[in-house]
Amino acid sequence: MNHAMNRRDWLRKLTLSGTAASLGLTLPPTGAAQDPGASSGFQSSVLNPQEVQPGGASPSVEGGRVLQPARELPVLHSTDVLVVGGGSAGICAAIAARRAGADVTLVERYGHFGGLWSGGLVLIIIGHIVTGGRQVCQGIGEEMMRRLDKLDGAIINRRPGVPPTVDAEAVKYLMVEMVEEAGVKVFLHCWGVDAIVNGDQVRGAVFESKSGRQAILAKTVIDATGDGDLFAAAGAAYERRAHNVGLVSRIGNLDRVDRARAAAAQAPRNLGSETPVPGVNWVNMHGPEVDGLDVEVLTRLEMNHRKHIWNNTQKIRHTPGYEQVYLVETAPQLGVRITRVLRGLHTVTVDDIKSATQYPDVIGVGGASSGEHGPWQIPYGALVPEKIDNVLAAGRCISAEMRMADLVRLIPNCFVTGHAAGVAAAVAVQDGCTPRQVEVAKVQKILRDQEAYLG
Ligand SMILES: Cc1cc2nc3c(=O)[nH]c(=O)nc-3n(C[C@H](O)[C@H](O)[C@H](O)COP(=O)(O)OP(=O)(O)OC[C@H]3O[C@@H](n4cnc5c(N)ncnc54)[C@H](O)[C@@H]3O)c2cc1C
Repeated sequence: MNHAMNRRDWLRKLTLSGTAASLGLTLPPTGAAQDPGASSGFQSSVLNPQEVQPGGASPSVEGGRVLQPARELPVLHSTDVLVVGGGSAGICAAIAARRAGADVTLVERYGHFGGLWSGGLVLIIIGHIVTGGRQVCQGIGEEMMRRLDKLDGAIINRRPGVPPTVDAEAVKYLMVEMVEEAGVKVFLHCWGVDAIVNGDQVRGAVFESKSGRQAILAKTVIDATGDGDLFAAAGAAYERRAHNVGLVSRIGNLDRVDRARAAAAQAPRNLGSETPVPGVNWVNMHGPEVDGLDVEVLTRLEMNHRKHIWNNTQKIRHTPGYEQVYLVETAPQLGVRITRVLRGLHTVTVDDIKSATQYPDVIGVGGASSGEHGPWQIPYGALVPEKIDNVLAAGRCISAEMRMADLVRLIPNCFVTGHAAGVAAAVAVQDGCTPRQVEVAKVQKILRDQEAYLG
């Protein structure tokens, strides 16, 4: 046997020369230690030859209306804390709740974590350090940044006065590592489509996936979908807002621009800013102010933005000196900034910030994108719905007035509210109460123990 031959080569040889048996050969085994990319050899088998989808539960058209009959849903899982959405807020929430001792389940509609940060290619982290050089985002958010520091090519500009920029793949990798380390149960490729509600108490959520429509039961739910999908489905009050929807992209070979020839021409507009990958910039896009929950609007924008980005890259390539610049990728997900915003027990306002309001229920401190605001306290009440119970909001959809949108949605502020929601949910489970009833002093103590900054 030729020991230099790998499994892929063996399979190719088998395909060419007949079956293993006819050659009298034994294939090298596959195993966890093997590189999964290299352990090729496609196989398929019939899983359930008898499978027939149960009939009678499909919607029907009656009198021009489509009606969905009542049906029982299979329960996929039961958990203490269910976090819906694995973006910057959801990941911090899941890890924090787990570290605070709760059994945690995290559900994400895509195949990766990070939300807009990684999937939306929003690579720059603005607002964790505010006026006076004070770092307001600590705890799990800061831990992520420190761990990115240790990964090769994962983060740049980790120095005072400059916002750090990350590599999206490094973020996705790190989040898998941290979620696994914490022992969070994960379901990817699951889209949360409804809340399970008894009276005014959320008891879990319903998901659609390739496995069908299933339920997860939970003692407490955290809505970290960014769009408030779960608290809206549960019947919590919210405000629906329009904001700019763009599509971020990355362009490459900027280190191959012929500077001498480029100096003689007018430089192309919006070449973006640097990333940890040499010669590759990320290019932000504002886009029009629209309803980011309207599927027809999203469809049109996705198509228009793609055409615009391609054509714009062609323009760059036709500029003398820039011929080698190319489009590395457009973000796999559209840049939806703000949609639904919770109406919570407390709504954060710009006036609160200006008057540096101190809250007895402070659960974190927010930062700003420029020097216009100093640190601002975030009250627990901004995560708790006015009426519906057993659900908390985290991330860009917490309760804040319109003028606050561009502060609340900054990535470090999403880390902070996610972290706090996770701890509060775990305390609620441990004390057998609802998030509305938790002893905030207990939440604050655990947050400080987990190195969060509360001012
Ligand atoms: C174009 C653009 C530029 C920006 N620029 C900056 C910047 O320079 N600096 C900065 O700090 N911030 C910036 N932001 C803001 C920042 O990126 C986001 O506000 C932040 O990442 C939001 O985090 P989140 O966890 O609240 O939500 P998201 O990142 O949206 O995460 C939500 C997660 O939930 C999942 N999800 C959604 N619905 C469901 C569902 N029904 N079921 C299951 N899963 C679901 C999503 O797939 C996603 O993973 C920018 C945003 C955009 C769009």
